[in-house]
Amino acid sequence: MRLQGKVTLITGSGSGIGQSSALLFAKEGATVIVNDLSEEKGRETVSMITEAGGDATFIQADVTNPDSVKAMVEQAIAAYGRIDVLFNNAGISGVGAIHEIEPDAWDRVINVNIRGVYLPCKYVIPYMMERREGSIINMSSCIAEIGLARRASYSATKGAVLALTKSMQVDYAKYQIRVNALLPGTILTPFVENYLRTSYDNPEEGYESLKKRQLSGDLGRPEDVAKAALFLASDESRFMMGSPLYIDGGTTFG
Ligand code: NAD
Repeated sequence: MRLQGKVTLITGSGSGIGQSSALLFAKEGATVIVNDLSEEKGRETVSMITEAGGDATFIQADVTNPDSVKAMVEQAIAAYGRIDVLFNNAGISGVGAIHEIEPDAWDRVINVNIRGVYLPCKYVIPYMMERREGSIINMSSCIAEIGLARRASYSATKGAVLALTKSMQVDYAKYQIRVNALLPGTILTPFVENYLRTSYDNPEEGYESLKKRQLSGDLGRPEDVAKAALFLASDESRFMMGSPLYIDGGTTFG
């Protein structure tokens, strides 16, 4: 059991990579605090975990809202006394070149994908500093490192999350808090299914072109990223600090 006794909080874990990570963390002995904007999706993840004999609880919160995030963290601390692992996973997609993106749509992506990392960190880190330990995993993307067409707002956020990860690591290393980033390639989740539906006249064709972009010749699975998250959450990665971890089927360097 690689996370036995650890209290973990995963934002956006009602779906996709977050849900898969929640299931894996629980299987490895963690208590999982499942967060999502959607109560229905979050509760579904909790049911899946408890039916498999794991320990999970749902806390609804919008990661862009300070009051909501603060209340979530206080509720988690009241229940468990600490948070050992914070996985900032919640995120949304944004499609378009700069001239095609309306200001509101730009702000929405920036808010969820950057403010939605800042706020959970802001409220969880003081508790980690007190205990002088913790692992924070920030969800970036391989798009932080490569140029992809019509992904301006999304790329900007994932690049920012990577830079933020390094900056945070410098600030919190002295408290034995590790901060690392995940950089997935294209992973088949509801997020990508939605992107295919909204960006291609023929989603099947879109799927084929996404597959070709990765050296692996196929899309990744949520479990592929969950296993990397498990590694960063566990003490096995104790010597990793401020690192980008690529799970991209060879997209970045291919
Ligand atoms: P997903 O859409 O399946 O899941 C995201 C979850 O986040 C949803 O359950 C959603 O309700 C939740 N969420 C959205 N806004 C929220 C908010 N304001 N507060 C709380 N929860 C909120 O997506 P996914 O593909 O599993 O992606 C998860 C993360 O991985 C995202 O940050 C995404 O940018 C990143 N990522 C995904 C891919 C991919 O190809 N799927 C690749 C690289 C990075």
